[in-house]
Amino acid sequence: MRPPLLDPLFAPITSLDGVGPKVAKLIENVVPADLGDRAARVGDLIFTLPHSVIDRRHRPGIAHAAEGAIVTLEVRVDRHQPPPRGNRSVPYRVYVHDDTGELALTFFHAHAAYLEKSLPEGEWVVVSGRMEWFNGRPSMVHPDHIARLEDAASLPLVEPVYPLTAGLSAKILRRAIGQALARVPAMPEWMDPSIARRHTFPSFAQALQRLHNPADPLDLSAEGVAWRRLAYDEFLAGQVSLALVRANTRRLSGRPLTGDGRIEDAVRRALPYSLTASQEQALAEINADLAEPERMLRLLQGDVGSGKTVVALLAAARAVEAGGQAALMAPTEILARQHLATIAPLAERAGMRAAILTGREKGRERAEVLEGLASGAIHLVVGTHALFQEAVAYRDLVLAIVDEQHRFGVHQRLAITAKGNAPDMLVMTATPIPRTLVLTAFGDMDVSRLTEKPAGRQPIKTVTLPLERFDELVDRMHKAVSEGQKIYWICPLVEESEEIKLMSAEDRFNSLKPVFGSAIGLVHGRMKGAEKDEAMRAFKSGETRVLIATTVIEVGVDVPDATIIVIEHAERFGLAQLHQLRGRVGRGDRASTCVLLFKDPLGETAKRRLSVMRDTEDGFVIAEEDLKLRGEGELLGTRQSGTPGFQVARIESHADLLEVARDDARLLLTRDPDLQDERGQAVRLLLYLFGRDEAVRLLRAG
Ligand code: ADP
Ligand code: MG
Repeated sequence: MRPPLLDPLFAPITSLDGVGPKVAKLIENVVPADLGDRAARVGDLIFTLPHSVIDRRHRPGIAHAAEGAIVTLEVRVDRHQPPPRGNRSVPYRVYVHDDTGELALTFFHAHAAYLEKSLPEGEWVVVSGRMEWFNGRPSMVHPDHIARLEDAASLPLVEPVYPLTAGLSAKILRRAIGQALARVPAMPEWMDPSIARRHTFPSFAQALQRLHNPADPLDLSAEGVAWRRLAYDEFLAGQVSLALVRANTRRLSGRPLTGDGRIEDAVRRALPYSLTASQEQALAEINADLAEPERMLRLLQGDVGSGKTVVALLAAARAVEAGGQAALMAPTEILARQHLATIAPLAERAGMRAAILTGREKGRERAEVLEGLASGAIHLVVGTHALFQEAVAYRDLVLAIVDEQHRFGVHQRLAITAKGNAPDMLVMTATPIPRTLVLTAFGDMDVSRLTEKPAGRQPIKTVTLPLERFDELVDRMHKAVSEGQKIYWICPLVEESEEIKLMSAEDRFNSLKPVFGSAIGLVHGRMKGAEKDEAMRAFKSGETRVLIATTVIEVGVDVPDATIIVIEHAERFGLAQLHQLRGRVGRGDRASTCVLLFKDPLGETAKRRLSVMRDTEDGFVIAEEDLKLRGEGELLGTRQSGTPGFQVARIESHADLLEVARDDARLLLTRDPDLQDERGQAVRLLLYLFGRDEAVRLLRAG
């Protein structure tokens, strides 16, 4: 179904000159697309944008070229001086001059034949590279470029610098990208002309050219028209695909779900607390949606600890009362098991049968769950992605709930929609996503917010502590444990890398074991499922009182009587993550503490992050600070990765375009719901270009 026009961009990158399987693997590390398990394609390279430039326009002449400066020089080759035979430590030198002076071009481990060919004695050449002055003599070690005078025009005077990865040379990557650009076909314009005019956007092809062959460093600015044009395209692709899915969601319209309140009431009676006003409000909104014949597509936003799970459970109760089944998907297995542990007793007491399905259920156990789902004997199933795989058939799934998912994309939405009955959908997130991000990630969803925490919660006291005071901290923690408190102790995960020598969870466990004895436990991502469960259970029950953990506990884990969280190398975590982690405590009615242990010296951004954490517990404030701080990283050119789920668009720089794209997408689909007319056909190309083509399958044939 893909337009053949795009075939060249969908070819594997190994179809490019100079890209074999080995180089291809390296290139896959730098392309911005989330490749999953597919191989990189030529089209992925065109969105691999340079992060900066090397400006080679400075042509001062040899004598006036300053130490360390990048210069371009027009010089005559005088003589070659190869190293003495057998002595590889002496460099190969080529002496050249211009009107102002003499310069030594210096090469280590040189290939003589290559140098003789590219720098023939008596010829004029252009060289570009970094100047080095040593004892008053100028030299240039390994010039970046050497060209004959007649080819000088081909030198990139403003040279783009691409993200690199170990083993991949800049030259090879540049060459591959150059070839990829040459394969971009002539395509019809998909952009609305009035939008293009208003923003003075260049065409798609011009924008790519300008970014990859900048004439000026400013061409590469995220705020420049070239980058903004591509960002707009990407937003538009995203918004069109979300709108298509949404339209489809409506088209397969659901059915009204109402109940007599029997199960809901029983669940409420079993709760040891009453709902907050926010929870009641959200539930009323959800129940109103469920009662409508249109399908529900609702986001439930609530800061960590605001009590989303019980809202989900009550919504599920309503679905079951109406005679259907509900599924609750969690991002990790730990979380799925925890949900089951909280939910199952309440559910069973209300007459709902609950079960779990993750990758871990195998054999008999799995077969039984599948059977229960197919027969309808299981009313509520909790699990991971496994819930929506093809092999799983439901008798009558009417409500799908997705918990804590920041990356709930079109793909998952389609997988869920494919489950026969076009279930209503509730997505729950603890990340207090600013409105703009809701739009990018979820499109037009209805939103319910939990704005208050359950009564009786105490504020969390947050302190920062330099690593030098580690021993003192351990003493205090020891005391806290003997007073009966429970402590999470978070270590950043070590990827076996020499550069980042962080204390691994296992090391920390071993070093604290003598202090805490049998009261210390360990949980990390590389443990087997059953071991993780056991570690969590022991901590929950109080058998262990200090839980050394990696960020596997980041989302959603609920041990209400844990009152202290220590985060090691807090300076290495992002704000959103720190906030999530801190949210593991302060869940009961006792005062809690968060200790951010950091290693000096702190960078500016890290310093700000820690002080934001100290100053506020408000998830929305933190999310906004997070965006701001990331924006600054961007300006400083230190930022590597973009907005999650996007290849070129950066929410900090391009947020203003997002709403324009959303309105544009809406209007487009109102006029041409199946993307049939001229612009519609062009927009189809756009969807493929940015990998949003799953939604194209929803269009009627033609
Ligand atoms: P999150 O929104 O982070 O998923 P949870 O659903 O895990 O939060 O709830 C956090 C804790 O608050 C749980 O221990 C839960 O039992 C408790 N809780 C939820 N709602 C209320 C309420 N209305 N009153 C008191 N405690 C509540
Ligand atoms: Mg939760």
